[in-house]
Amino acid sequence: MPRGWFLCLDGVDGAGKSTQCRLLAEWLRGQGRDVVPCHDPGGTELGKQLREILLHHRGVMALTTEALLFMASRAQLVAEVICPALDAGKIVLADRFLLANVVYQGHAGGLDPAALWQVGAFGIDGVEPDLTLILDLPPEVSLARRKPSADRLESRGDAYFANVRAGFLAEAARRPDRLRVIDATPAVDIVQERIRQEVMKSIQAQG
Ligand code: ADP
Ligand code: MG
Repeated sequence: MPRGWFLCLDGVDGAGKSTQCRLLAEWLRGQGRDVVPCHDPGGTELGKQLREILLHHRGVMALTTEALLFMASRAQLVAEVICPALDAGKIVLADRFLLANVVYQGHAGGLDPAALWQVGAFGIDGVEPDLTLILDLPPEVSLARRKPSADRLESRGDAYFANVRAGFLAEAARRPDRLRVIDATPAVDIVQERIRQEVMKSIQAQG
């Protein structure tokens, strides 16, 4: 059975994930590879409904509920999209994955990061990205890049975003085999070039 390759781009809001995912998918397709892009949360009908609740719910939402809604959306994405694509030998390119849960609800939110990895592992059934590239940006630069109409999750304070950044960097230091930090401050094409280099290295290392 061929097994595809699973790549994830993550990082603070406004870091350039959507931009870079699109360019990377184009480049990989240009090399004749079959690419399945997806967005976490979202990416399935059920996931889109859960994402709506996560971004726009007006009432009270406990942080554990928030974390578990992300997990539920991801479980559906893995079952419906990611597993079938990997089984068919394709490259899955995810805009965020479990790491974001660990960082946002854990490092920045106050839940236990280790517990989030554990609950998250149940949700993804062993399907982990082979490589996650963390697009890193100082808060003031990401703030300038973000749209003014922040949703429920984006409208949190400055200290929260500083903790998000620190959380990403702490996780990257803990798992250098699978997590790499990319400086996202340079121009789009320079960041893209660095991403491509990391991707090539990782695909080649896998054989
Ligand atoms: P994310 O998906 O991580 O939130 P986006 O790709 O949507 O980030 O980018 C956020 C905004 O910043 C967009 O307007 C995008 O055009 C711009 N942008 C992305 N990368 C760069 C970059 N390297 N330099 C300057 N602006 C950028
Ligand atoms: Mg985006």
